[in-house]
Amino acid sequence: MMEYSMAGPKLPRAIHAGQLFSLAPEEKRVNVPKVVSTRRPQLKPKLGQHFLASDSYALQIVDALGDTAQKTVLEIGPGRGVLTSPLAKRARRLIAVEIDRVLAAQLRLRFGMFPNVEVIEADILSVDFDSLFGPKPGLRRPGIEFKPEPAKVVGNLPYYITSEILLRLFDYAKYFETLVILVQREVADRIAAEPGSRDYGLLSATAQLYASVERLFTLPPGAFAPPPKVHSTVLRLTMSPRQRELGLSDGTNGGRSNDGFIDFLKLSFAQKRKTLWNNLKSNYDEARLRAALSAAKVKPAARAETLSLEQSATLYRALHANRDGSS
Ligand code: SAM
Repeated sequence: MMEYSMAGPKLPRAIHAGQLFSLAPEEKRVNVPKVVSTRRPQLKPKLGQHFLASDSYALQIVDALGDTAQKTVLEIGPGRGVLTSPLAKRARRLIAVEIDRVLAAQLRLRFGMFPNVEVIEADILSVDFDSLFGPKPGLRRPGIEFKPEPAKVVGNLPYYITSEILLRLFDYAKYFETLVILVQREVADRIAAEPGSRDYGLLSATAQLYASVERLFTLPPGAFAPPPKVHSTVLRLTMSPRQRELGLSDGTNGGRSNDGFIDFLKLSFAQKRKTLWNNLKSNYDEARLRAALSAAKVKPAARAETLSLEQSATLYRALHANRDGSS
């Protein structure tokens, strides 16, 4: 919508997302709140701000999500919008969560014309996924069975909280279908590692409990501005929780799926150099532990990283048989 100011030089003005701003060359603008200035905001290295500098890599990442025309997409850390831009044109609904106040304001301004795009200024670790994707008032009435429509997730993840973000997404697994994420290559190695390998650990076991993991491609540091010190890898995680297949309860607890098995894995991997016996004995009676290890055919001197998920689940079930009512 265009209009002209009443006073001063007759410069065109536009009303955009309910705000009036001048279309005069940037240098001449006055009264433009700093927060929506189109100038590049100061980089915040502590927030893991290494922006993807290539549109073609961005398109490859967005393509890896598959068809999003009928889907909700959650974008984590949209930054300057290199992934947001193609997604805004493709997705039925796009929710972009950015912690940086200035970047969030700029994104809101830039994508204000897209009714399918919501920019939320928040820490992704504190976003309430139940409110975003869970049942709304009226959907809890008897006779209405709410089924979440699983969203796709995309993000060039801030490196300082990659594991926390993933663990949180797994915690709310029922709301998510596919995750396409860009992470440090070493972290990708850990997520995709096979049991028995050097990189296998709690993150690998948890990721593989919830999803099948594919490594898609690796980007050099030069693909980002500013360049990080390490390479980065794009992973696709297709959510397919294995709890039922492994004889574990699906642990559904409200919207969350945090069951005792995850706590058991945390304890098993508590100290990587220690044997399973030493890690587990703090929490289990020795006789029970000995019997369960024997039932699961696991040597007490074994380390957690040598066990397949099936073996860990068998051990967990043996330890908890008749202990907490589960079999
Ligand atoms: N997606 C953009 C790109 O590829 O150029 C930016 C990626 S940059 C690696 C990570 C982004 O996540 C930054 O914009 C940063 O401000 C944001 N971020 C960092 N911590 C966050 C948090 N806890 N919650 C939401 N966003 C966060």
